[in-house]
Amino acid sequence: MTPDALAVPAAGDGRLRHGASLKFFYGPMDCGKSTLALQMNHNHARQGRRGLLLTKLDRSGAAQITSRIGLGRDAIELRDDMDLRDLVRANWAAGERVDYLICDEAQFYTLEQVEQLADLVDCSDVDVYAFGLATDFRSELFPAARRLFELADSVSRLQVEVLCWCGREGNFNARIVGDAVIRHGAQVVIGDTAGECVRYQVMCRRHYRTGDLGPVAPNAGQLRLA
Ligand SMILES: [Zn+2]
Repeated sequence: MTPDALAVPAAGDGRLRHGASLKFFYGPMDCGKSTLALQMNHNHARQGRRGLLLTKLDRSGAAQITSRIGLGRDAIELRDDMDLRDLVRANWAAGERVDYLICDEAQFYTLEQVEQLADLVDCSDVDVYAFGLATDFRSELFPAARRLFELADSVSRLQVEVLCWCGREGNFNARIVGDAVIRHGAQVVIGDTAGECVRYQVMCRRHYRTGDLGPVAPNAGQLRLA
């Protein structure tokens, strides 16, 4: 389907306009990605721009972007079969501007959806700000994160340090069942909503690899304050 088929603005003839871009911000769990996503939306909205907030499998289980420090905004919950270009065009067709997209939990997007984000930037001048994890509990890249690394105009590692229990910087999203670090299994198991048996903890490389959870394991999904 071509953009012309839906008679929407900014059909894209390939000429540079204002130069929309695809930006990917990544970091481990608890590093403040969702908080930054909401702040980014606030900053753009204050400038009179209009955007859509998108999420997928957010920890709240509802169609919201929620951050661990208690912020929240209604968002569109993506399904695998949704085409983001159609979503934007539907807004345009309804007379709503879409200047930008805030894409939280981008690691869960399909590869097709990442390509659709690039299309929106290149053909429709929609800015895309994607936020997500880079690697899964096996310390391997999520497919969507890998594609964002490949396609994005800029990739930024968020600078909020999340610490392992030992005090080292944590960059590994360990999946823990009981008191064991698990390195095999389904790529996506949402810990916060999966009951008590599966939880996630950010660890340094050393302790992720040795599976040492430290003298006292912190509660699942909480920032260590000490
Ligand atoms: Zn450690």
